[in-house]
Amino acid sequence: MYKLIDGKKLAAKMRADIKSKVDEYKAASGKEIGLAVVLVGEDPASQVYVRNKIKACEEVGIKSYAYYLDKEVAQSRVEELIRSLSVDDKINGILVQLPLPRHLDSKKILELIPYAKDVDGFSAENMGRLCMNEPCLVACTPNGVMKMFESENIDLNGKNAVVIGRSNIVGKPMAMLLTNANATVTLCHSRTRDLKQKCLEADVVVAAIGKAKFIKADMIKDGAVVIDVGMNRDENGKLCGDVDFENVKEKCSFITPVPGGVGPMTITMLMYNTYLSATRS
Ligand code: NAP
Repeated sequence: MYKLIDGKKLAAKMRADIKSKVDEYKAASGKEIGLAVVLVGEDPASQVYVRNKIKACEEVGIKSYAYYLDKEVAQSRVEELIRSLSVDDKINGILVQLPLPRHLDSKKILELIPYAKDVDGFSAENMGRLCMNEPCLVACTPNGVMKMFESENIDLNGKNAVVIGRSNIVGKPMAMLLTNANATVTLCHSRTRDLKQKCLEADVVVAAIGKAKFIKADMIKDGAVVIDVGMNRDENGKLCGDVDFENVKEKCSFITPVPGGVGPMTITMLMYNTYLSATRS
């Protein structure tokens, strides 16, 4: 019998907890906590993400500063904005909504964010610190997955974990976090040979591939913990994950649904990182 890890419920609980910590911080320091959100252009998906981030800020008592820039804005103007936010005491976290329009050099822009305000945890400094298991701001999605393990008291010590997907924002930091939690990690990708066999040996599977229902029941060992990071549309246009949930669930001890699993945790961890960033500055 599997147990569903309810990301929506956990995220709501964590947000309430973050709100009380933010309130305490504000009362003790007399200062606000500020998150700058930079959106270039009018990509509809990015607009929804930014709106949700601003809403989450309101929910936890973080002050948001939104910067909406024209889709044709010059590289120098974006760089100038990031430089000024970097030295602005009101701003504890800077988030540049990706993807940026193609004429902009995203790498150069992101490199201007000081690591202490890099609440997405994407910078080389934060990634390097994570790799060395030192205090840092951790990428929000994989950090949210770790909170899900914690919430269910899932012991990772000595477990075989397979992460599928090696992106810098999900797969790689996920593999590092699991390694730091004493799991034995195999990081798989599109060139991995015999993925099915590797998955069958895993106590924990984290799927971050971006392919609808790619992980099938015959790839999962009985009693495994399955975390589905994927956000895709199925053949009927319905939101679904990378895991063939209906067929896989009965084999699992724990599984996350899509929607309502990892997704709600991501923005929550962004709020958490912004709070951390304020307390560390
Ligand atoms: P990505 O950058 O496109 O990376 C996908 C990874 O999957 C790559 O490493 C790729 O391998 C690997 N892959 C592709 N096909 C494969 C195959 N047949 N077998 C094994 N590995 C394969 O994607 P991402 O940004 O990490 O996102 C992954 C998924 O998570 C997407 O559905 C995305 O929408 C979702 N996501 C959700 C959240 C959330 O908050 N819930 C946040 C971020 C992302 P190569 O490196 O070899 O190409």
